[in-house]
Amino acid sequence: MTARIIDGEAIAAQLREQVARDAAALTEAGNTPRLVAVQVGENSASKVYTNMQAKQCKSVGIEYTLKNLPDDITQDQLLAEIEALNNDSSASGIILQMPLPDQIDPRAVQVAIAPGKDVEGMGTVNLGRLFYGGEGCAPCTAVAAVELLKAACNDLAGKEVVIVGHSEIVGKPIAMLLLQSLRESPTVTVCHIATRDLAFHTQRADVLFVAAGVSQAKWRSARAKAKAAGEDVIVPDLSPLISGDMVKEGAIVIDVAINRIPKGADENGHPLKKENGKMAIKTVGDVDFEGAKEKASAITPVPGGVGPMTITMLLFNTVESAKRHAAAR
Ligand code: NAD
Repeated sequence: MTARIIDGEAIAAQLREQVARDAAALTEAGNTPRLVAVQVGENSASKVYTNMQAKQCKSVGIEYTLKNLPDDITQDQLLAEIEALNNDSSASGIILQMPLPDQIDPRAVQVAIAPGKDVEGMGTVNLGRLFYGGEGCAPCTAVAAVELLKAACNDLAGKEVVIVGHSEIVGKPIAMLLLQSLRESPTVTVCHIATRDLAFHTQRADVLFVAAGVSQAKWRSARAKAKAAGEDVIVPDLSPLISGDMVKEGAIVIDVAINRIPKGADENGHPLKKENGKMAIKTVGDVDFEGAKEKASAITPVPGGVGPMTITMLLFNTVESAKRHAAAR
């Protein structure tokens, strides 16, 4: 069997069209949706994200504000900034850029965002609503992954779903989203680092979600060890966590992971370099795409799968939040 590719770019593009129409209607009525990203200090990785957020917001007619705050801000000062944004009626959604400096407790700040403006769905109120199956924003990546599954299969009742990874932003909320229906839910198994026989679980999965980021973690650790020892880094074995033979025939595979790792190694085991001398990198998931494609009935690619859908969910949540604020005025 050769799997159908679940095209995250195309599915996201369709949703973005709807978001753009809704944003235009809100703007016409004087309620322009606005997303505020709070960035503490300078961070090159966050800069990539904030640039992308700005571009994506613009493309659908959402106003975007990047609020840069100093690196030495205190927790109380940051909480006061969040409170001001909670009370600012022109802000439809607030997102907190990670990482935050050491003096800040990220959880304390995340939960201070008003639930109605928590468009990432990471606050305790929204997570609680997800648990109870009520209205609210669920974490964007989890919703994105489940939406891509629904594009491939809408009958989940009684199916075996296995999720690899149990983080609060991906694995656990995916499980909660899948268990929302009392009668038509699948049976959900959540695997993680302490799972004894991962293949045993994945091989019986009708639907397999994978969100572990294993190759990236191995690469980071190899680099850190080499740096500490003052040596050149040797590329370790970065083969994907899930090989083709760990996938059940006919399964649907949703690969959430984003691993940015060396494209390969030279004869001495050092990372290959580009002509400009920088390391040649590739972006891969946790699943051996080529191997799994021969077994699965449908599979998401990396890149081009869950990634584009995740950012689109953020836009969607911002516009939905703007609609709720407009209705309450
Ligand atoms: P995390 O580090 O918080 O959690 C990793 C999870 O994987 C943990 O539950 C851990 O127990 C599990 N795990 C680690 N090694 C394992 C192993 N050998 N076997 C089984 N389970 C193992 O990571 P996260 O924030 O949940 O992100 C997971 C992946 O998803 C990363 O690759 C990340 O880049 C990606 N991600 C993608 C998007 C997107 O938009 N596509 C968004 C967020 C995260």
